[in-house]
Amino acid sequence: MNSTATRLVIFGRQGAGKGTQCDRIVEKYGVVHLSTGDMFRAARDQGTELGNKVAPIMASGGLVSDELTIAIVEERLASEDIQRSGFVLDGFPRTPTQAEALLEMLGKDRLHAVINLDVPLEEVTARMKARAREDDTDDGIAKRLALYEQETVPTIEWFADRDLLVTVDGLGTEDEVTERLFEAIDGVLAATS
Ligand code: ADP
Repeated sequence: MNSTATRLVIFGRQGAGKGTQCDRIVEKYGVVHLSTGDMFRAARDQGTELGNKVAPIMASGGLVSDELTIAIVEERLASEDIQRSGFVLDGFPRTPTQAEALLEMLGKDRLHAVINLDVPLEEVTARMKARAREDDTDDGIAKRLALYEQETVPTIEWFADRDLLVTVDGLGTEDEVTERLFEAIDGVLAATS
């Protein structure tokens, strides 16, 4: 991978505002936004073989298998634009198994930062109910948030144990959160360059 390419992972509960912040990270750091949720939704909407496989899993609020998810990310990471520009990974890794696979795929291309955009569970629950996307039934929301606590929180801790985690307070206006995020990213980039 290009030695100047920035390599980031961002965590945040459903409803934490990751989408907006990722757009801003893309604009400022010139990285590619790589969202496994977007990839799976696109496949589902196009009715590809992969899409048909993941559609019922997504509809029920479950997680796609590690094997399938890791394979998709590995293929995408090898693409020319990401090799050149770097990435902000969103929605992956979501399990410790995926986290291990990611570091293995990257090899000597270490991650610059793993950011936890932290918004408490009570706050995102309220935001999600107000927002109600197509796949956001009350049951679906509750299941996805519960899965986040079960699977993703341990993944975040996995990165914290490896001293890769930067926690950013996700409460406040979008601009306030962006400012905190940029400060955190600039900090790690300065430290690693
Ligand atoms: P949400 O954060 O609202 O669950 P995402 O957009 O990140 O939504 O993902 C949508 C769905 O795609 C998930 O509910 C899950 O079924 C699947 N998915 C996305 N990323 C992963 C992943 N890393 N591992 C397993 N399944 C995933």
